[in-house]
Amino acid sequence: MAKKKESPQGTEWNYSPSPESTTHVKLEKRYALFINNEWVAPSSKAYFPTLNPANETVISEIAWANDKDVDKAVRAARKAYQEVWSKLSGAERGKYLFRIARMMQEKSRELAVIESMDCGKPIRESRDIDIPLACNHFFYYAGWADKLEYAFPTKNPKPLGVAGQIIPWNFPLLMAAWKIAPALAAGNTVVLKPAETTSLTALKLAEIIKESGLPPGVVNIVTGHGDTGAAIVNHPDIDKIAFTGSTNVGKIIQRSVAGTHKKTTLELGGKSANIIFDDAPIDQAVEGIVNGIFFNQGHVCCAGSRLFVQENVAEEVIRKLKHRMESLYVGDPLDKNTDIGAINSKEQLDTINRYIKIGIEEGAEIHQSQCAIPSQGFFCRPTLFIGVSQSHTIAQEEIFGPVLSIQTFRTVDEVIQKANNTPYGLAAGVWTDKGSRIFNLTTQLKAGVVWANTYNKFDPVSPFGGYKESGFGREGGLHGLGAYLKLS
Ligand code: ADP
Repeated sequence: MAKKKESPQGTEWNYSPSPESTTHVKLEKRYALFINNEWVAPSSKAYFPTLNPANETVISEIAWANDKDVDKAVRAARKAYQEVWSKLSGAERGKYLFRIARMMQEKSRELAVIESMDCGKPIRESRDIDIPLACNHFFYYAGWADKLEYAFPTKNPKPLGVAGQIIPWNFPLLMAAWKIAPALAAGNTVVLKPAETTSLTALKLAEIIKESGLPPGVVNIVTGHGDTGAAIVNHPDIDKIAFTGSTNVGKIIQRSVAGTHKKTTLELGGKSANIIFDDAPIDQAVEGIVNGIFFNQGHVCCAGSRLFVQENVAEEVIRKLKHRMESLYVGDPLDKNTDIGAINSKEQLDTINRYIKIGIEEGAEIHQSQCAIPSQGFFCRPTLFIGVSQSHTIAQEEIFGPVLSIQTFRTVDEVIQKANNTPYGLAAGVWTDKGSRIFNLTTQLKAGVVWANTYNKFDPVSPFGGYKESGFGREGGLHGLGAYLKLS
């Protein structure tokens, strides 16, 4: 069916379907665990299906690792650490990382398609953002592997040992790269668990790792549900836990590692503020709002889910935003015209719909775009709420979907106070023409990242992480490297 999209001039363009081909994608019917560079059946013999959330079909079956399997993976990682990886020079470690990065680049089209099929994100995002950034993380940290003494002069940097890494479903391959690349560059070995709904690109990465000739046991990938993650967290021979996911699970992990020798970094939830002042470039700001909350279906921990607009431009911003929302396509993630793909799972769609219902019940005014959505699969129209106050549940709790709550403000002090009035502190956006105002807000907003006149921009060189219940520790840049080192 041809789709309609309105041009900035107001004329309508018709788009024919433009699906990305899947013919070059090679997927197994069933995936075992990746331990010691071998594919190992889970000791429980249990497997679970991974679905394409856009059409609810089973793509593949994934092994469900239990305590015994996790123990096997940790032993493999320990042996590789002691016998091989910690003895290699930084330059040699760097060569492996460069090789993995190049191989990922060569397979980037296949990885992007698999990411969109398994995760539901539009192919434009997996192709142009997730996969290139994942490769760039390997390239970036490859460059540091032989320069640790320069990165941390006089600090005598030493690896920690075996890192247990647990990642979520919103940026599957990118999160795997964020975790594996700095760990290996610093000289650690890893046991990584992808999220249960999005294991496929991590398993494709395992194939690349095997093909790259990385010594066995340096990277082990164990798939499974929360119990598999808990087995990693509680394994006594793990030296570092790096977790990205919900604040609830982050708190469980924090309690489990309390009193142990394990170093921890937690990147948790968010309820980030996107702040528009009256002197902002309004059209760009509207794009920034769309990018901040509707990008990746709102499945972004730093999504700009709370919009604060200065009162005298609120009417204009909301009008333009509603107009822009009408031109967003919701549909097949593999279609190159799609702006908003599928919600990752039925559970997550139910959660989003529950929050939309709460928003209405608590008296906020809802607006959703009128676009058609597919009858099969898990989809949600871009949604905004106006008339929201600080006490509304939708302004306080993380929804993790394309749902925006809008509040207005009059003064700088008022918006700083409102923006900081949340248990979270992951990111924020500030839109204004005044440099001095940007500097004022970046120092006063309690957020790990503050974007100025842009939103959701990532780079391997920039550290990322939170304040308060958004977690602690940083990933990316030198900070992310330091998190995998003992520094004197
Ligand atoms: P989300 O709400 O984004 O799915 P979760 O925190 O539930 O976030 O999941 C993030 C990752 O944590 C997933 O890989 C999941 O399997 C894992 N996980 C879930 N529960 C636990 C737990 N108790 N201990 C360790 N890992 C867990």
